[in-house]
Amino acid sequence: MNEVLLLLGSNKGDRLNFLNLALDRIDQISLKTPVVSHIYESEPWGFDSKTWFLNMAVSMQTDLSPIDLLDKLMEIESDLGRKRDPEASGYESREIDIDIILFGEKVIESERLTIPHPRAHLRRFVLLPLNDIASDYTFPGSGKSIRELLNVCPDKSEVLLWP
Ligand code: ADP
Ligand code: MG
Repeated sequence: MNEVLLLLGSNKGDRLNFLNLALDRIDQISLKTPVVSHIYESEPWGFDSKTWFLNMAVSMQTDLSPIDLLDKLMEIESDLGRKRDPEASGYESREIDIDIILFGEKVIESERLTIPHPRAHLRRFVLLPLNDIASDYTFPGSGKSIRELLNVCPDKSEVLLWP
């Protein structure tokens, strides 16, 4: 069994509802009741949007392979109404985004999956929620804990406890 840390984000529609619907579905595929962070509101990163994100970190337990878990999470995203625009370059607004930040101690570089999530350790909107539920976890590679990564994080974008 592996512990997996996910980051959920929504900046479109009823954001809180999308986080809750996603959490329900994650609960159904997790071997133990998921542990959740506070919810944060964060400034869109890397693209222009009027709507800020709600973000939440979730810890779940799974026996699935990383790719099988990714497929299940993408199915949840599409069931909740997320459509990817094949023409869009870079970031776009989304009802729900579910990213795998850490998967046990695994390091994965494949076409469909990069774990740890490549930009996670540089983003306050990822590290702040993760710090609520997994501050002592170390990122494979750097060997730094989430708390340490947050302390040295150069990202100054706004991430506010919500509501
Ligand atoms: P982003 O989350 O970067 O804004 P998307 O949610 O549209 O963008 O994801 C694009 C692709 O990222 C997915 O099709 C998936 O294969 C890939 N991907 C790579 N690593 C991860 C990861 N750790 N978690 C989730 N998706 C990932
Ligand atoms: Mg994603």
